[in-house]
Amino acid sequence: MNRDASWAALQRHETEPLDLLVIGGGIAGAGVALEAARCGARVALVEARDFAGGTSSKSSKLVHGGLRYLAQGRIGLTRESVRERKALLRDMPGLVTPLRFLLPVRHGDRKGRRILGLGLALYDFFAGRRTREWHAPAAVLAQVPQLQEQDLAGAWSYLDAQTDDARLVLRVLAEARLHGALTLNHVCADSLVEAEGQVQGACLRDAASGQTLVVQARVVVNATGAWADRLRQGLGQSPQLRPLRGSHLVFEAWRLPVAQALAFFHPKDGRPVFALPWEGRTLLGTTDLDHHEPLDREPGINAAEFDYLMQAARAAFPSLDLGLEDVVSTFSGVRPVLDSGDQREPSKEAREHLILAERGLLTVSGGKLTTFRASAVQALRRVQARVPALQRLRSDAPLLRAPGIASLHAVRELPEALRERLLARYGDATATLLAEAQPGELQDIPHAACCMAELRYACRHESVLHLDDLLLRRSRTGLLLRDGGTALLHKLRPVVQETLGWNDERWDDECHRYRERVLRSYGIPAEWRP
Ligand SMILES: Cc1cc2nc3c(=O)[nH]c(=O)nc-3n(C[C@H](O)[C@H](O)[C@H](O)COP(=O)(O)OP(=O)(O)OC[C@H]3O[C@@H](n4cnc5c(N)ncnc54)[C@H](O)[C@@H]3O)c2cc1C
Repeated sequence: MNRDASWAALQRHETEPLDLLVIGGGIAGAGVALEAARCGARVALVEARDFAGGTSSKSSKLVHGGLRYLAQGRIGLTRESVRERKALLRDMPGLVTPLRFLLPVRHGDRKGRRILGLGLALYDFFAGRRTREWHAPAAVLAQVPQLQEQDLAGAWSYLDAQTDDARLVLRVLAEARLHGALTLNHVCADSLVEAEGQVQGACLRDAASGQTLVVQARVVVNATGAWADRLRQGLGQSPQLRPLRGSHLVFEAWRLPVAQALAFFHPKDGRPVFALPWEGRTLLGTTDLDHHEPLDREPGINAAEFDYLMQAARAAFPSLDLGLEDVVSTFSGVRPVLDSGDQREPSKEAREHLILAERGLLTVSGGKLTTFRASAVQALRRVQARVPALQRLRSDAPLLRAPGIASLHAVRELPEALRERLLARYGDATATLLAEAQPGELQDIPHAACCMAELRYACRHESVLHLDDLLLRRSRTGLLLRDGGTALLHKLRPVVQETLGWNDERWDDECHRYRERVLRSYGIPAEWRP
């Protein structure tokens, strides 16, 4: 269903209430929409910016139990995350993939081999299989020759998983649509509608057309992540969230080569830092600090964070002499973290999700990408009485339908890596993607982890409204290529103009908007630029 048809379908609910109106198209909203639609509930989801345009495209992209949470004694969160990791690995092969971690231990570390080994034993126990292994220093250096050798006592290795966070959201939303959900990006819920002290709907505004609509719903779900307090405060509730920013650097993999993920401690404050292989690049992150900038401005890394992460990289890999020129891009996200109210250090705040039912508004926020399904099911249980279809809720149903015979047949002669990527990201729509591909378009765009056929498909079928939707979230070109991949724009132009019907003026405006965005939120901070 295209955008106009979805808007028209939404208009019907000005008088006839939806079962659920989900506000927010990150992973939390997508998960709620899918689980509710799967039960047969009538669901619509609106997203003010782009799908996954908030934090859900800016995470470390790990589907993990979170060893750090275990160290903080958050056993319940770790157990739930490990269980969800197992389910996602089972249900989303190719999109959620196993990732081996190496955790070096140094003489004099506060948490030495024994303590970390105990934590990992518990981690393995939750997963129901042993994945941990101890490696002597020589074996560690054979795997990561550039690692700082000084005081190295050895390393633990263990298994976790990773994903493409934005594509994960898009895949969950696509599945929700298969179950009948309406999903619209660039539609903002400006305010809530109340009657007799209960929230009964919301005023929606389409950013593209400027049209507005008042939609009725039995349950309104506030899945607006770091913005969640805004809608709540409209009901007179006190704020609960502390927005914390986390930033990453994206390195050329040949300059910072890691065959597996590496976890180490920052030399300055002992915080854990990850170097992660991802889509042919190496991600290094993250920072964790109070985010004081307005939430409506897309976050970006500041000079101090950039410096902090470069220090970590140089300390862990001293022989590599890493510099500014090795950084391809940066990105920053804002964690919607529950505020303890006692001004503790950002890294000490709890990462559990928040579920609140207040005057008919169901808020689901905080938490992790990894646990989206568990949070969705827990949240929906709170409103089963108001939406009878939700009696069918199940926490263990397979997340996605398997691709049908047409898609499996269409991919049979493709190279294995491409076959796996397409089926994982597009599921049963793979057959359409391949049928619409033009000659030569299945060739990978170097270092972009996608091909032109995927970009063509996204323009036609994945609600692309702006160039940044296409280059930062439908594909990850903007993160994986220097300058956001703007060198590719001339090749992309005919495909985009043909499929989206943009004239030359619109194309120029979009390129301008995209370049500005990349410079502001995905580049190197001004203070560091040559
Ligand atoms: C640096 C960093 C690293 C992380 N790494 C990991 C990791 O490796 N693994 C993991 O499991 N978790 C990780 N997390 C946590 C995880 O990314 C977040 O918890 C998760 O993405 C939050 O999803 P969300 O849907 O709640 O929020 P968001 O993704 O921010 O979605 C909320 C959406 O609501 C929209 N919205 C706001 N107001 C309105 C409105 N009025 N109307 C309509 N729409 C609106 C916004 O535009 C936004 O898209 C990380 C977080 C950060 C910041």
